Parts: sequence; C-alpha cells; structure tokens
Amino acid sequence: MGVRVNALTCTGCMACEMACGYHRDDAFALLSSCIVAYRTREKKDYFGVILKEEDSLVIARPEGMEIRKIGDAGGGGGDSSAKPMLLRESCDLCAGMDGGPMCARFCPVDAISVE
Ligand code: SF4
Ligand code: SF4
Repeated sequence: MGVRVNALTCTGCMACEMACGYHRDDAFALLSSCIVAYRTREKKDYFGVILKEEDSLVIARPEGMEIRKIGDAGGGGGDSSAKPMLLRESCDLCAGMDGGPMCARFCPVDAISVE
C-alpha cells in the first residue's frame, strides 16, 4: 500500500508538501516533507509530484508514473529536484495521525489516493 498521485489532475499547489511537512515536524517545514510538488520551466502547466518511499522514489508526471528503486543506476529521480529527496524520511502513510494520510486529505483536487 502506498500513496499514488494522478499528475494529470495535480495543479502544483504544494498543499500535499505542506501537509506532509506538518506531519513530520509539527510545522510547515517543506524540507521535512517526503512528498514534493514540482514543475518545469520548459512546459507551461506541467505539474508532477515526487514521493520518497522506503526503497524507491515514486515520480508522478502527466505522462505517467515511474517507480525507481533507490540505489539503481541513475535512480536519482526525474530531474535535479529529485536528488535531495533521497535524504528525506520515507512516507509512513501518516502512521498514528488521526484522519489518515495528510497529503491526500488536503489535496484540493483529489489527485492523491492510497492504494
Ligand atoms: S501519507 Fe503522510 S507521510 Fe506519506 S507523503 Fe502523505 S503526508 Fe507524507
Ligand atoms: S496537493 Fe494535490 S494538487 Fe496540490 S501539489 Fe499535491 S497532488 Fe498536486
């Protein structure tokens, strides 16, 4: 079971990132979040999300989802913004939090599900 993101629905609002940072640090600490929204400069309205799991990075892009095993060659993620993800804590599905996974709860467009 894990967090999955439909990047076609995502608007890049970063609510998931803030919610996860709050779960991790009891504050809106973006650097503590294990889910990160990203966008590219090259393409307008192109949003995606990177999630750090125990053994992998889940990269959700509009063209599809990719799961990269941490440690694989080139497994740093979809772009340079993915590299700092390896240093972050892994998603624990908000274990112990009332109301379940915070990122899914606060995504305004229901782009996040737990499957
Ligand atoms: S389920 Fe919780 S720990 Fe996992 S990415 Fe979402 S907010 Fe972060
Ligand atoms: S909260 Fe939802 S819409 Fe906002 S960045 Fe995260 S996945 Fe995208």
